[in-house]
Amino acid sequence: GSVIGILGGGQLGRMLSVAASRLGYICHIYEPSAAAPAGHVAEKLYTAPYEDEAALRAFAGGVDVITYEFENVPTSALDLLESLKPIRPNRRALAISQDRITEKTFLNGLGLTTAPWAEVNSEADLRAAVEKIGLPAILKTTRLGYDGKGQARLNTPDDIAAAWVAMAGAPAVLEGFVAFEREVSIIGGRGADGSVAAYDPGENVHREGILRTTTVPAKLSPAQRSDAVLLAAKILNALEYIGVMGVELFVTRAGLVVNEIAPRVHNSGHWTQAGCTVDQFEQHIRAVAGLPLGDGGRYADVVMENLIGEDVEQVPAILKERAAQLHLYGKGAWRPGRKMGHVNRIVKG
Ligand code: ATP
Ligand code: MG
Ligand code: MG
Repeated sequence: GSVIGILGGGQLGRMLSVAASRLGYICHIYEPSAAAPAGHVAEKLYTAPYEDEAALRAFAGGVDVITYEFENVPTSALDLLESLKPIRPNRRALAISQDRITEKTFLNGLGLTTAPWAEVNSEADLRAAVEKIGLPAILKTTRLGYDGKGQARLNTPDDIAAAWVAMAGAPAVLEGFVAFEREVSIIGGRGADGSVAAYDPGENVHREGILRTTTVPAKLSPAQRSDAVLLAAKILNALEYIGVMGVELFVTRAGLVVNEIAPRVHNSGHWTQAGCTVDQFEQHIRAVAGLPLGDGGRYADVVMENLIGEDVEQVPAILKERAAQLHLYGKGAWRPGRKMGHVNRIVKG
């Protein structure tokens, strides 16, 4: 087939569409909100809510395969779409990563280490969880959190009541705070033929819960680097996954701890646009379209910096830099915390 449907029209959908277009594919985007960075570059944009059955049917009717750049697509919409066209990556990968508890249960079932965790559905649960896990800890809503939203940090037992109130009644999970040496992520892909390719892990720095920079290579020992690759392959194979996945990791002296997985292209993989011949967006399109994957080889040292909010005012200066590859998402006016673009700086080629 030659038309790829993408659920979600943000910057990830935009960059997927550009990559698809370069390979001769056409993208149709389904995006409920009117502001859709991907709408500018896709062949067709469906601006309708996920509850609009007629719009979903029209979207599915026009495409050969459906993928997504956003993991919180409602189940009802997916049920309908799945009855009409193949969804890649599959529903199981999506369902597992939509909920932090199913995700951690799945990861622990594969023998992978996560932060110690406990389910929390009341203030009494939270008290019991703090007893069990200890402090410091982080309380997170099980669903719909991103960029550190829906999280509350607990340092002392006095923080319990406020942390529970911050969840606004939503189901939550308490995670023990992992005293990590560094944070890295690994972007892996699995093709329709079952072959797996991983990119070199990148080292991530967050500020206020939002990714600021990713640097490759990450400071990792050879053993840590191969552990990251093996762990990503284990997850991809267990899910019979088709597409690209981001796996966020904490590096500790006791080994790698999985923070979370994202069943899609990932912000910490944007460096591949400047560091690799086949970047994560093309890799995902290749997988979804049933083409052979790129091998993930890296040809440069890269630092990716997100342009968040007022950071876009640096654009004129960035344009004068040598070895800086600029990406802007076409979002219009900046707002605090809004991801407006990113820059990939080649540090060594
Ligand atoms: P994303 O936008 O990556 O989906 P998110 O809202 O799902 O973000 P997390 O990845 O859970 O948030 O947490 C954001 C950041 O907070 C992490 O990258 C890490 O820096 C820190 N953090 C989260 N959980 C823990 C933990 N258990 N121990 C230590 N630090 C943590
Ligand atoms: Mg997350
Ligand atoms: Mg995260």
